[in-house]
Amino acid sequence: MFIYNCRANGSCYRTAQFFSNGSTQPLSDISASVGLNGVNREEDVRIIQQRLNGVPEESGGPRPVLDEDGRCGKYTRDAIRDFQLKQFPSSKPDIRIDPGKRTIRRLNELTTRRRTSVDGVSRQQFLLIVNAYVPEVVRRVRIARQRLQNARAAYSGKLIKPTHQDQKLVDWHFKTHKTDDPVGAIGLILAIYDRMDQRLTWHITRARPLFQLGFAKSSDQAVMYTSIGGWDALEDELDGSGEAVNKIKVVATHAGPSTIIHELAHLCGGKSPADAIGHMANPVPLPNGTRLEEGFSNYRTMNAQEARRNAASYQSLTEPEPSQLGPPMGDEW
Ligand SMILES: [Zn+2]
Repeated sequence: MFIYNCRANGSCYRTAQFFSNGSTQPLSDISASVGLNGVNREEDVRIIQQRLNGVPEESGGPRPVLDEDGRCGKYTRDAIRDFQLKQFPSSKPDIRIDPGKRTIRRLNELTTRRRTSVDGVSRQQFLLIVNAYVPEVVRRVRIARQRLQNARAAYSGKLIKPTHQDQKLVDWHFKTHKTDDPVGAIGLILAIYDRMDQRLTWHITRARPLFQLGFAKSSDQAVMYTSIGGWDALEDELDGSGEAVNKIKVVATHAGPSTIIHELAHLCGGKSPADAIGHMANPVPLPNGTRLEEGFSNYRTMNAQEARRNAASYQSLTEPEPSQLGPPMGDEW
């Protein structure tokens, strides 16, 4: 299982991994050397690029920021050199980052430091801003539940097509029409929204606050991130950096209700690979959702199992105005 870092534009990437023994390892721990004459595995290079981009310029971070493309080209090597020059001025830079050695350790120190303010907004103000979205989040989760209940009623009643509008919406976002048991599939999805509702109630009653200020992710424009399968995490379960994993980490102020719902979906899935809610597909480009995503599926063609494990599906079904993210019209899908 992975911890995802999600941006307002809907793109997300992995930042840490859970293991079956319960431990968590930040993906900033590279598997092999990166840089000049390094092994330069794509995933490792991307980690270094993301980490370097999170380093402030005054501490030797690259400006402009690097493309996080997993390729160790001239700009990435130059950025490693500049970082080493700034951080270790008394030794000649070797332009190489080895697992467990001082450059990666310093990189991790600098990019996982706790922040006291973001964009000039204090921690307290910051949480007030996010908390102000909670009533709208609650409202939207209930919109989605109502749509699912309507769709289930339509399926149970064996309505003849053309079907109920909510049924069509649920089919588009969750591919329930592709299963042998749409009623059962809808039940599983409703259970996730019920968890979200429960989690929001705990937040509102202050039993378990939902948000906390995250780590510095300054250059990647992450707005929020959370662990996958947080629902099943123990309350005091910590990741490799000592952060509680079952909360939504807030790292920038421009997150809105939609992003919070996306994060809630990650949080309210299970931990097992079959239950975790990650990124299977994104409904772009609208309205056809044909862009290939991480798992090489797209919104149009993903199956019901993929849709049930897709954060964007949960997010999209809560849009108050379904026409914005609804199914393509007059088209078979
Ligand atoms: Zn995400």
